Amino acid sequence: LRILGQVALTYIICEGGAGLYLVDQHAAHERVILERLEQDIGRDDRVQYLLDPSVVSLPRSLRGAADSYIEALTRLGFAAELFGDGDVVVRAIPAALRSQDLERVLRETHEALDEEGAGPDWRERLALLFSCKTAVKAGQRLETAEMQSLLDQLDEASLCATCSHGRPTAILLSHSQLEREFGRR
Ligand SMILES: [Zn+2]
Repeated sequence: LRILGQVALTYIICEGGAGLYLVDQHAAHERVILERLEQDIGRDDRVQYLLDPSVVSLPRSLRGAADSYIEALTRLGFAAELFGDGDVVVRAIPAALRSQDLERVLRETHEALDEEGAGPDWRERLALLFSCKTAVKAGQRLETAEMQSLLDQLDEASLCATCSHGRPTAILLSHSQLEREFGRR
């Protein structure tokens, strides 16, 4: 995929074999992170140790299930333990989430869990929430190299599949559509 630019600081416009793509930068990045996270589950070599452990409060909605929460984090590749009665100390994170701002990511993930109510499926939602909170956001300016490295991790054939929120990741304007629109055919 050849990068042509960024539109409205939200979409990456690029050219592939089938035509012109408009890619939602957040949805695409979220998908890349989620796939890597799922591939890395259970792989000890895909864990990144932090120089300084991070301390965050447990999600309020999971206060009664602190042990299960730590277990779910561990399964995803975190090294985390309970501290006092409402905090979690995080010593390592899954490499897929390599993030400059881990405490923000954890805090926002916990806020989302609390807002939606943890519910019976909170374990399945964790990986998705971490990917969502780690991914670039709409409105964020990206350098060409950043867009290229993001798209290098997606394959053109699967680009138009829907993201985990059920929205499309990309829209394709195919060569034949272009020809039709311009009255060339
Ligand atoms: Zn998202």
